[in-house]
Amino acid sequence: MIAIAGAGLSGLSCALALHRRGKKCTVFEALGSVGGRQRTARHGGFTLDHGFQVVLDSYKSVSAVCEIPTLDPRHFESGAIVHACGRTMRLRSPMENPAAAAFSPVLPFPDKLRLALLGLEILCTPDSKLLARCASPSDQSTRDFLSGRGFSPASIGRFFQPFFGGVLLDNALSSSAGLFLYYLKKFCTGRAWVPAGGIQALPESIAAQLPAGTIRFHSRAMEIRGNTLLLESGERIEFDQAVLALDEPSLHRLLRLPAPPPAPGVSVVYFESSESLYPQRCIVLPAGADRLVRHFVQTTNIAPEFAPPGKHLISATVLGPECNPEAALREIAEVFPKAASCLRHLETIRVPYAVPAQPPGFAAKTPPPLPPNVHACGDWRNGASIETAIRSGLELAERL
Ligand SMILES: Cc1cc2nc3c(=O)[nH]c(=O)nc-3n(C[C@H](O)[C@H](O)[C@H](O)COP(=O)(O)OP(=O)(O)OC[C@H]3O[C@@H](n4cnc5c(N)ncnc54)[C@H](O)[C@@H]3O)c2cc1C
Repeated sequence: MIAIAGAGLSGLSCALALHRRGKKCTVFEALGSVGGRQRTARHGGFTLDHGFQVVLDSYKSVSAVCEIPTLDPRHFESGAIVHACGRTMRLRSPMENPAAAAFSPVLPFPDKLRLALLGLEILCTPDSKLLARCASPSDQSTRDFLSGRGFSPASIGRFFQPFFGGVLLDNALSSSAGLFLYYLKKFCTGRAWVPAGGIQALPESIAAQLPAGTIRFHSRAMEIRGNTLLLESGERIEFDQAVLALDEPSLHRLLRLPAPPPAPGVSVVYFESSESLYPQRCIVLPAGADRLVRHFVQTTNIAPEFAPPGKHLISATVLGPECNPEAALREIAEVFPKAASCLRHLETIRVPYAVPAQPPGFAAKTPPPLPPNVHACGDWRNGASIETAIRSGLELAERL
């Protein structure tokens, strides 16, 4: 029997791939539902994801684990609304609308050329090579990389920092440039979408393909002794092979290793409104490093079913531990003044652990030593994303 600890994307993908190959496995999940960091709550008819999360068309592994159309994907328009120097500007993707992108006032013309050249360069580079850079001693911080390529502080402050600060969950752009380039390519080559049922619908659709009884909930793995997995309940599970598909802090706890480097959390502040703030199906990027709100989006423009009829749902992403809904609302009202009167705070969801620390060269770190017949997968290995989490589970199943 193969015992898998963790029913997040990596553990579920591993279980599904093993099941398809006729291997028997059981998934032990500490909590009462699947999804791990992909969680969706319902609140008075609103669909509230635990963290703003999007799937990209360019994530190839998603279609390997689920039938995407059954998730009713709700697509974003490409680009974003940028708010800088008291002005609201539309930023378009050069891949979708080259003319509009060329005339957009967000980036100065020389930086548009630099971005176009960088885009061409990464389109010609395989994903594996971009990710290999994350393990290289020559990897740099995203900020140093952009400055080294000649991008102006204005472009970094108006576009790269608000957009990729939100993607990498790193306001300072101190994360690996290799990871930034990987994401830039994914955003250039695919549109973002959310399942109509919320982000948790993705792991749930993988779990639904497993035979009944494969997943055991409220079954926290506490220790491994030889070929035995000890659960919190005291139950002992004998295994032939074990897979630890855990987030990095839980993996280190289980293996009795020192805690991994701290990774800042994130909060999502949800507001409801009877009035629409803006009509476009895209996120809004308020420029400036000192912002509380990294980005916000009127989610119902993309997925109207995220709110009861006649209502709009607005989600604002705040990085770090500080999260004051009134301050978040003030920042939204700087972009859309009517927000001050029409938005009502609905709920704030704190995600204390979002993604691992991913500084330059992070992928070179030595993986934790594992006992015999014990294997590990998860998003901590090659950069945190839906794609890498699923792929790590699929690749491990292949090896097993
Ligand atoms: C706020 C936020 C925004 C994000 N945005 C995006 C995005 O837009 N696009 C993107 O591609 N990625 C995004 N990500 C990253 C993506 O969600 C994760 O990389 C991915 O879900 C990780 O999956 P995983 O299986 O590796 O880990 P997890 O989802 O953490 O799964 C680990 C599982 O193990 C369980 N567990 C822990 N300890 C034990 C134990 N001892 N015994 C049994 N079970 C245990 C946990 O309960 C959990 O279910 C975001 C993440 C967050 C948090």
